[in-house]
Amino acid sequence: GGAEEAKSGAAGRARPGSARLLSASSCSGRLAGKVAVITGAASGIGKATAAEFVKNGAKVVIADIQDDLGHAVAEELGGSDTAFYARCDVTNEAQVAAAVDLALARHGRLDVMFNNAGIISGTSPIESMDLADFDRVMAVNLRGVAAGIKHAARAMVPRSQGCILCTASTAGVLGGSAPHAYSVSKTAVVGMVRSAAAELAARGVRVNAISPYGIATSMAKRGVREMLGLPPVGTDTDDEEVIRRVFEEDFNEMGGGVVLRAEDVARAAVFLASHDARYITGHNLMVDGGFSVGKPLNVPVR
Ligand code: NAD
Repeated sequence: GGAEEAKSGAAGRARPGSARLLSASSCSGRLAGKVAVITGAASGIGKATAAEFVKNGAKVVIADIQDDLGHAVAEELGGSDTAFYARCDVTNEAQVAAAVDLALARHGRLDVMFNNAGIISGTSPIESMDLADFDRVMAVNLRGVAAGIKHAARAMVPRSQGCILCTASTAGVLGGSAPHAYSVSKTAVVGMVRSAAAELAARGVRVNAISPYGIATSMAKRGVREMLGLPPVGTDTDDEEVIRRVFEEDFNEMGGGVVLRAEDVARAAVFLASHDARYITGHNLMVDGGFSVGKPLNVPVR
């Protein structure tokens, strides 16, 4: 709304004398004064996003189930006023509600909810798919996101503003690149985002998905280890080298020596959460180096 506009305009205003064309988007502080809850923020993409949000002036609640890592990340990002750890298992609705309430209690508002926690498991062929495993993956990756959207909307709708982000995946738009339960859960996240965005647009709240390609985070490395038949955690440096190659070469469409990092996803999240994206909702922003838009012809081309 108007208040948000006035606020981000002021926050991004260039110093007197600086170039006229310097817009709000080219300054840091793009999220000045905003309050965010980020699930899965003790590690990987969530952690990188928490750092990028703080760098841009936001206050963050680090919501995760890894207490030691979560506390350490909060400490690293400046401690209690800037970054606060809250234990939050996204499969438990009361804990998701409590993480949102904590942001409201500490800062009086919630501007951004990043539903990012996720798990991957199971590589078996579909005829031996483990349905208990399927339920576990869906409980975190889909139901956890649904709970996050529900409770964020509860906090945001009364102020007619807010931004909800959800981590989907390239596996949510293409089959065959991840285990079945994971692919299905991420496809459903994109559906959940569309459904919520359609309802919430008129009430001032935006809802978007971000879909990264492979990044060597702990979750993804565990997934690749399972695919390659390597032990779940390893110290073998040869294995580590194989895994590095999988991410930097096999899972990489982009030339010029560019490798996808968690920070790339974090910057996409900053954009979507910022005033620059104020008319963007229901979108699934692919951060995939073009992986999902093409497939080389399987005929020889000379
Ligand atoms: P990660 O393992 O580094 O981080 C995931 C975090 O989620 C961990 O800190 C973990 O403790 C937390 N988490 C797991 N279950 C939880 C629960 N029930 N409640 C709260 N927190 C929980 O992995 P990541 O790659 O940063 O994963 C973040 C998101 O990105 C996930 O949704 C994942 O599916 C998605 N993603 C990752 C990749 C990739 O290649 N790394 C690609 C596409 C999408």
